[in-house]
Amino acid sequence: MDLNLSPSEEAFRQEVRDWLRRNLPPEWTVDALEKLEQRDAVACARKWQERLGAAGWLGLAWPKQFGGRGATLMEQAIYIMEAIAARAPMPADKIGLQLVGPALCEIGTQEQKNRFLGKILRGQMLWCQGFSEPNAGSDLASVQTRAVLEGDEWVINGQKIWSSDAPWADWCTLLARTNPEAPKHKGLTMLAVPMNSPGITVRPIRQINRREEFAEIFFDNVRVPRDTLIGELGTGWSVTMRMLTYERGLYTLVEIPRFEKAWRQEVEYAKTHRRNGRLLIDDPVVRERLAQAYANIQMMRLTNLRYISRYLRGVAPGEESSLMKLHWAATDQGLYDLGMALGGPAALAMLGAPRAICSGQWNADYFYSRACTIYGGTQDIHRNLVAERIYGLPR
Ligand SMILES: Cc1cc2nc3c(=O)[nH]c(=O)nc-3n(C[C@H](O)[C@H](O)[C@H](O)COP(=O)(O)OP(=O)(O)OC[C@H]3O[C@@H](n4cnc5c(N)ncnc54)[C@H](O)[C@@H]3O)c2cc1C
Repeated sequence: MDLNLSPSEEAFRQEVRDWLRRNLPPEWTVDALEKLEQRDAVACARKWQERLGAAGWLGLAWPKQFGGRGATLMEQAIYIMEAIAARAPMPADKIGLQLVGPALCEIGTQEQKNRFLGKILRGQMLWCQGFSEPNAGSDLASVQTRAVLEGDEWVINGQKIWSSDAPWADWCTLLARTNPEAPKHKGLTMLAVPMNSPGITVRPIRQINRREEFAEIFFDNVRVPRDTLIGELGTGWSVTMRMLTYERGLYTLVEIPRFEKAWRQEVEYAKTHRRNGRLLIDDPVVRERLAQAYANIQMMRLTNLRYISRYLRGVAPGEESSLMKLHWAATDQGLYDLGMALGGPAALAMLGAPRAICSGQWNADYFYSRACTIYGGTQDIHRNLVAERIYGLPR
């Protein structure tokens, strides 16, 4: 494993750094956006995304023939680390850039490529992912939302849930059942659905941290043209699996600077606050938990770098991505459990409350860390994958 950057990677890093320094206004940094109402923050993030797109920084990994940069995994990692260091927000359209665009590059029709790829790359669209339903989460192949062909249109009825970014998305990549007679994995098809279609109702889900980035989406006789399929009729399951492998990529790398920052804040807090007359840092249990949290973050960082290094040497990512997800979730929750334990009752003050610790960020991140064992496949599902595919245990 070689962790040093090559001269061309070093030059790329400098290019990213210079561009960010010249183009990221202070009012669009992550810190500035955190202080805004969520819709206003999304509006700023969209403007930032358009600026990134105009300068060619979106779709780094997309093939050059489709307007991307054809960047290596290491260059993507460099971009992410530099953007985080500059406090630049990630592009708002995660689903379009990471799932829909790469899928269309591979399997889209020429008309779809012309219609969507340029706009996604220029940051002019925002997609959401309509996969999960109230009775189809881990068992995603059970989706019941129906799409029925009537003349030249699909008529869609059903409900999706937990769709991130749906309250402000322009388009939805929708997994629907087009053949109820076929075996469940075979009767599904992926559709591209405009979110302003008549018959769509988006009902945001308010979370305990007061944010509303998820929604339920109700489809009531929604009509879309016949040619809005992504992939072939009946291939929705393989398109979904293909999209989810794009999604895994480098996501854990993005989290590391946030964890390191929270860890440093926790150490500082422990050094400056007392409980029962004693500084928290003098409590051996606190010291042990801080040490464990630090070790977890470093294991996550190094495992990530090993993953990139292996990938660059042509070793395809395998089931170890499940191990990474399990460790990531344990790191995330352990870190913020510790923050809440250190802060005690004071840690209950939420974002924006006058005397909240770290402006309420620990509290918000603590609540968000609860989701980490659910999204991207629950812990149980990843444990099953590790058991069956790494250890060869029976189903
Ligand atoms: C932050 C966040 C963002 C999300 N964003 C999106 C999005 O944009 N679009 C979208 O479509 N969905 C999204 N989801 C939904 C997510 O994909 C599902 O919540 C997830 O797949 C789990 O499904 P479920 O909630 O229906 O739980 P279930 O599948 O009902 O699971 C319930 C419990 O049973 C366990 N379980 C289920 N099956 C098994 C099994 N075979 N073996 C052992 N245990 C099992 C699970 O581990 C869990 O503990 C998001 C979720 C979160 C938390």
